[in-house]
Amino acid sequence: MAWTVATLQKSLKERKIKSIDLMRTVFAAIESRQPQVNAFISLNKAQAIEEAEKADRDLDKGNAKLLTGIPIGIKDVICTEGMTTTCGSKILHNFVPPYDATVITRLKAAGAIIVGKLNMDEFAMGSSNENSAYGPCRNPWDLTRVPGGSSGGSAAAVADRQVPLALGSDTGGSIRQPAAFCGITGLKPTYGRISRYGLVAFASSLDQIGPMALTVEDLAIVLQVMAGKDPLDATSSPEPVADYRAACREEVKGLTIGMPREYFGEGLSPEIDKAVRDAAALFEKKGAKVVEVSLPHTKFGIPAYYLAATAEASANLARYDGVKYGLRVGRVDDRGVALRSMYERTRHDGFGSEVKRRIMLGTFALSSGYYEAYYAKATKVRAIIRKDFEDAFKKCNLILTPVTPTVAFSLGSKMEDPLEMYLSDVYTITLNLAELPGLSLPAGFSSNGLPIGMQLIAPHFREDLLLRGGFSYQQWTDWHLRAPSGSSALEARYESTKGK
Ligand code: GLN
Repeated sequence: MAWTVATLQKSLKERKIKSIDLMRTVFAAIESRQPQVNAFISLNKAQAIEEAEKADRDLDKGNAKLLTGIPIGIKDVICTEGMTTTCGSKILHNFVPPYDATVITRLKAAGAIIVGKLNMDEFAMGSSNENSAYGPCRNPWDLTRVPGGSSGGSAAAVADRQVPLALGSDTGGSIRQPAAFCGITGLKPTYGRISRYGLVAFASSLDQIGPMALTVEDLAIVLQVMAGKDPLDATSSPEPVADYRAACREEVKGLTIGMPREYFGEGLSPEIDKAVRDAAALFEKKGAKVVEVSLPHTKFGIPAYYLAATAEASANLARYDGVKYGLRVGRVDDRGVALRSMYERTRHDGFGSEVKRRIMLGTFALSSGYYEAYYAKATKVRAIIRKDFEDAFKKCNLILTPVTPTVAFSLGSKMEDPLEMYLSDVYTITLNLAELPGLSLPAGFSSNGLPIGMQLIAPHFREDLLLRGGFSYQQWTDWHLRAPSGSSALEARYESTKGK
């Protein structure tokens, strides 16, 4: 049986395994695989071990909480009190937040234990994890390939069985695309479903935190802990939180699933096309109805996204000036003479080239005389894309699409051509523009043994429908339980680590 959050909860509670042994196993796995996979930027070992000992005491006394003793890795863009939060950037190499993000507060209150901070593209800008200042993370299915991005470390660590659970963030696909490349399951909730307080901002109108794990059931468990209104984030929604685990148990009979014709055209790998169509046929066989729908403005998604996201990023990243946080290059004398050169040198040395490219693009798009032509226009395109989805959802309950046009690509293969990299986000960014929730889950393998993902999309705040569809699919298939051959196999490692 795979070590999922659900199975670990049970084994810990029944005292078949000890939290301390589990934690030691997790660190043994991370340490042995880190040189190849590079999933982590920093570890929280001493504290995690201490907390695991306390978790055992709580479990022994029978007063465990929902996630007591469950190890979790956190994308390094989410603030963790007392632990560095680098955002994959040199400019924040020594930034230690004085507070926890709301999701961290909620996970800790439920008993989860943070094992470390996960690798990512700098400031979450990228689709391959190659824009990290801490070295690229690698795909555990094939170490010459990228794990996807920007939450590449999160996906790789879960796929490699180093941790059962991770958090990612998704502005244009950063949870769903790496989940697909690494053969795991990931959820981008509706904008506003989870508090963004303590998530370092990339594009504030698009960013959302979400869970990444092996199974849909695990996502349901963790979403339940994190979802809901937060007084510290005005964009978090008061919409009631459903019972996600109960939603998982509902069957798909009676659901209508739409397949948007624009998502199955030119550029899509035939193997992915087939895997997603096979999944549709399976849904149909199990009693769902499958219909064709249309999302006619899909092709405007990429330009609208790369305008909106860069514009917001250029404003959000203005705060890294060498004064308030992290890196400072150069000195300012007491008359402030060298202030300007300190700003310049700090930003020159602190940011990587993709981040600089985006700051320049975004600054241009927001500059006077261009705002209407670019940012304002992108906002109008967002409204049109949202309307496309609203129209499609009049004909179906869920939409089924590929996550990516290709399987995981080779390291270095798209680094010289940013446009080529941006185009790989074609099926994911439309959801962020429309603020919709999306689930990425394994749907098969390519002929060269790489994972293929599929995406389910639901109307706003209908994560329950996504989980219902996804959970059922995982009862009929075992793609999500297959592990890469070199992976760390926690279960086997546990036997040799326990008691030591
Ligand atoms: N790949 C997209 C980008 O580079 C999405 C990133 C994200 O979702 N954080 O902007």
